Amino acid sequence: MSASEAVTDALRDLHARFAGVREGERADYIPELARSDADDFGLALVSMDGHRYSAGAAGTPFTLQSVSKPFVYALALSSLGLDEVGRWVGAEPSGEAFNAISLEPRTGRPANAMVNAGAIVTTALVPDRPDAPAFTRVLTALSRFAGRKLDVDEEVYGSEAATGDRNRALAYLIRSTGTLPVDPVAAVDTYFRQCAVRVTAVDLAVMAATLAHGGVNPVTGEAVVSADVAAQVLAVMATCGMYNSSGDWLLRVGLPAKSGVSGGLIAAGPARFGLAAYSPLLDAAGTSVRGRAALGALSERLGLHLMRNPALPGSTVTLATTADVLPSAPSGRRERALRERVGVVAAQGALDFTAAERVLFALDESGPGQVGSVVLDLREVTGADSVALALLHAGLARLARDGRRAAVVDPGNRLGPPDLVRERTGQDLPRYGSREEAVERCAQAMAGPV
Ligand code: GLU
Repeated sequence: MSASEAVTDALRDLHARFAGVREGERADYIPELARSDADDFGLALVSMDGHRYSAGAAGTPFTLQSVSKPFVYALALSSLGLDEVGRWVGAEPSGEAFNAISLEPRTGRPANAMVNAGAIVTTALVPDRPDAPAFTRVLTALSRFAGRKLDVDEEVYGSEAATGDRNRALAYLIRSTGTLPVDPVAAVDTYFRQCAVRVTAVDLAVMAATLAHGGVNPVTGEAVVSADVAAQVLAVMATCGMYNSSGDWLLRVGLPAKSGVSGGLIAAGPARFGLAAYSPLLDAAGTSVRGRAALGALSERLGLHLMRNPALPGSTVTLATTADVLPSAPSGRRERALRERVGVVAAQGALDFTAAERVLFALDESGPGQVGSVVLDLREVTGADSVALALLHAGLARLARDGRRAAVVDPGNRLGPPDLVRERTGQDLPRYGSREEAVERCAQAMAGPV
């Protein structure tokens, strides 16, 4: 445990750096939120392997508020699909405050699911089922995202329900345009309950990590929503998640995020981390001041800005040369001359489209012109996704058409089953267990009858 403590130390550093910030105000639209402890400040980070790290008050409970919105949106998308959900709620940043009357002229459709109007509609899209009332479905979904059974802070719910006239007004206004598919009173009640679900910063980081991990909770291993739904939710968080400062957040921090008026804030680094902060002092837009500063600094420190995603040089192709320069090459002149016409490319790691393009380019570079043959060594490749495979197969088919013989070193069958490879590349690609064997055979083939 002690080496990975360095990750906790990074969180502790940030905690210490921003704990002294005193700017901002607690939300006071209901008394319960105004009673939260202004000094509370927690940070949490969860990796795609489900490793959890935290600092400060990361176990302190608070209510989800608006951070519930992306997760209920995910539930609605899972049940109905993007097209149907999109008929009722848009996906455009409103540029307005969370409780604005942000409805599309003519249709009355709310701008997006991250502002109250859109969230109320989203919640309304999750109807009661004979076996489970709407709120049970919502609570179950939120709990699966968090990886534990969550509950409702009844006092916060009661107070929200007692004072929620603006949200009720929004719901009636939406229904007056004919948009809201169900009873506004019921929808707003479920919405108030989802806002009052109790979580900790660690829960929030697990929830964010589930979205970042293609919908699979990295701690429990449960597939909560599909990878498509997770991506759709992250996209709307990226453009609309930070109230009316969403554009500035995406510009500076570069992560899909969602904040709530109780001081909770999540951010997701797709395929990397789920991050969360809790600190009740809010800025004018309604986002936690310390949370914003700490997650912004964390994104910078960990290099998480989505638009800045440098490919690591040299991380895919480890060798692109001709066989005569390999240490194992025999010294005879004739053998060397043959081996000069055998290219050798070795790749490593997980291959996606980007990595596969590098491999194909290396195949082209590895031999003199269009003659000779080439050995592709895939022993250090750990996997290839379907897009990478299709590109590799197509590239090998082109090589064959150009008259360049290829052989692969692929004891792990990374290129896929031989039948598929034959079908896609139009040839029986010779496969070998070792690089030396493949090179030797190719060199011999060069020497064969012309
Ligand atoms: N319960 C709050 C409301 O609807 C949530 C708002 C927020 O967190 O932004 O007013």
